[in-house]
Amino acid sequence: MAIRQFNKILISNRSEIALRIQATCKSLGIKTVAIYAPEDAQASYVYKADESYALSLRGFQAYLNQEEILSIACNAGVDAIHPGYGFLSESSSFAKKVLAAGIVWIGPMPDTMVLIGDKAQARALMRMINVPINQGAEFKAVAFDLNAAKDCAQALGYPVIIKDSLGGGGKAMRRVDHDIDFDTAWHAVLSEGKRLGFSGNIIVEKYLPNARHIEIQIAGDGKNFIHFFERECSVQRKHQKIVEEAPCSFVSQETLDGMYAAAITIAQAVSYVNIGTVEFLVAATGEFYFLEVNARLQVEHSVTELTTGVDLIALQIHVAFNEKLPMTQQEVYRRGHAIECRIYAENPANNFMPSVGTVQYLQVPRGPFVRVDHDLRHGGEITPFFDAMIAKITVQGATRAHALANMLAALNDFILAGCTTNISFLRAIITSDVFIQGDISTHWLLRSDVVAKLCAGDLAAPTIDQEELIIVAAALHEALAARAMMGVVGHKELHGVSKKWKQVLWK
Ligand code: ADP
Repeated sequence: MAIRQFNKILISNRSEIALRIQATCKSLGIKTVAIYAPEDAQASYVYKADESYALSLRGFQAYLNQEEILSIACNAGVDAIHPGYGFLSESSSFAKKVLAAGIVWIGPMPDTMVLIGDKAQARALMRMINVPINQGAEFKAVAFDLNAAKDCAQALGYPVIIKDSLGGGGKAMRRVDHDIDFDTAWHAVLSEGKRLGFSGNIIVEKYLPNARHIEIQIAGDGKNFIHFFERECSVQRKHQKIVEEAPCSFVSQETLDGMYAAAITIAQAVSYVNIGTVEFLVAATGEFYFLEVNARLQVEHSVTELTTGVDLIALQIHVAFNEKLPMTQQEVYRRGHAIECRIYAENPANNFMPSVGTVQYLQVPRGPFVRVDHDLRHGGEITPFFDAMIAKITVQGATRAHALANMLAALNDFILAGCTTNISFLRAIITSDVFIQGDISTHWLLRSDVVAKLCAGDLAAPTIDQEELIIVAAALHEALAARAMMGVVGHKELHGVSKKWKQVLWK
């Protein structure tokens, strides 16, 4: 008997997340429609979809073109749209248009997106439902009052943080340490918010220097609400996560239970539908404060998938189709430990400046406990037109120590020649005493001396010459491997050369 299901889904996204969503659709027997900007024409997610349509704009703007994407969806006759993360995933206006066109939106209701997409409105809601928020105040966009905001900062005591309530991805927020710097930071947040199209209300709140970022994965169908435990996401550069893990063994069970309960209270208050993430800051004292709700799939969802065994995208599709959660809280359990490292095309030693290039050589780690999400290929271009995250590695282990060992092995095995990446920086992070002891906070990598030390302690930050050497060594290895396959050279010989080649890489 055929299972009733969507027939065709358009994925309004690109790269690794488009491939990830396609994988679930394939396993459910659902056809997929891909869209692509000219820069992505050669990407494998375009070829792996059942149908692919070119977008008219270039770069990331292409994936924000609501009218065009909707018209492709209508013409292709899709039943639903999955937005992935980023781009239009948090656009309530797009979600509304999709629903108005009679297409299912695989995500929360647009009204919920409006309510919790604004950090200031969300803070007001938290006050009503008694979920703890950080000390601070909101200042209305209609009457930005610098003096009142400054008074608020003085009353809170420095340091404070100024945020645009619609900001995201670490953008349009500034830490202020002294009264004298307040005006400059205030104007910087306002103008950055305006430039990036946020310009919501402004929030001034107490800056917590030793806080952890811990988030709870939730799911709901409007009536029933469940959580999938926490993810620890304190390792951030420029207020953006780069290493995430679950479970978090460094805060008390009482604190974790408090956050699970608060996340469910929030889901109930807004009759949450589909999946989402409630983010909290946890102070060194163990108190936690609501930060925001991300009403969409998160990059780091893989960490939860590897510890709970639940395919979160299948869950999203199930809720969107059946309007019902497929499981109860009692059926959610987790096992072992998972860690994710985000691979960025950037140079940590140069203020994390994004890098570009052509992939000259690519070796992606494999193994029973390793999952790599990426859409990289030999000869592929890494361009400045999109986010610099080019891959993510997620590993599993019975314990944190096992997972860490698996991550180190995976990072050692991930070789990408042709552009600078943060791979060796990630290796330095996960082998550092601070990380191993779990002594991390969101502040850790904001300190330039810490970053410099991690870069210096890094085993293999390649210089230009070293990079060229890698390419030559890799090409030789490829040629030799091909000859070994033809039986022209022995596998023993290949192994010997391979070992030498690795020594070149890790020198
Ligand atoms: P975004 O929408 O960019 O994710 P958030 O408000 O969720 O913005 O904050 C992102 C990150 O900024 C947090 O994980 C944390 O590192 C930092 N941050 C935000 N608010 C504070 C605060 N009050 N004190 C210290 N750090 C903060």
